[in-house]
Amino acid sequence: MRGSLETIVGAMFAGKTSELLKRILWANHQNKKIVVIKPSLDNRYSESKIITHNDLSHECFSMQNWDDVKKKYSFKKDNIDMVFVDEIQFLDTLDTLKNIELILNEGIDVVCAGLDQDSRGKPWETSSMILGLSDKILKIYGFCNVCGMEATKTYRKQEGGGRTQVGAANIYEPRCLKHWSPR
Ligand SMILES: [Zn+2]
Repeated sequence: MRGSLETIVGAMFAGKTSELLKRILWANHQNKKIVVIKPSLDNRYSESKIITHNDLSHECFSMQNWDDVKKKYSFKKDNIDMVFVDEIQFLDTLDTLKNIELILNEGIDVVCAGLDQDSRGKPWETSSMILGLSDKILKIYGFCNVCGMEATKTYRKQEGGGRTQVGAANIYEPRCLKHWSPR
């Protein structure tokens, strides 16, 4: 049987990594054999852990590309029950799509988490494609830093910087549509 793909998306500070960790802890509790991956570009807090903004963490493999990952792990149902991937927006689109597909076809379940949009409000390509491939989707929301209402957008507090500029509360904050503008 093909594995199932669940994807968790939302703006920054919505709690995506916390949702992913919840599933990781649950899988651990059930003695599942798991693999946790994140792109090595994301070294905001730690190189070999995924860490939430409120300091919960789990060990992970920091990947440069999928060849790296496949050298490290053999994706067979006998060895691995579940794969967790954080910050999917930073991964190569076609390569990620191809490899997630291979893993699912082995009968391994996959849970992905990441941003669905950048601070300009444009969809991240890899997240969009993974959402299209997903069996289950969870979109979660933060709270607007100005008014406290539901936030669906990531607001960049300073002008400029590249699209993939990695940062935390010093650069970005969650905002509602009323208090957000693309930048
Ligand atoms: Zn607001």
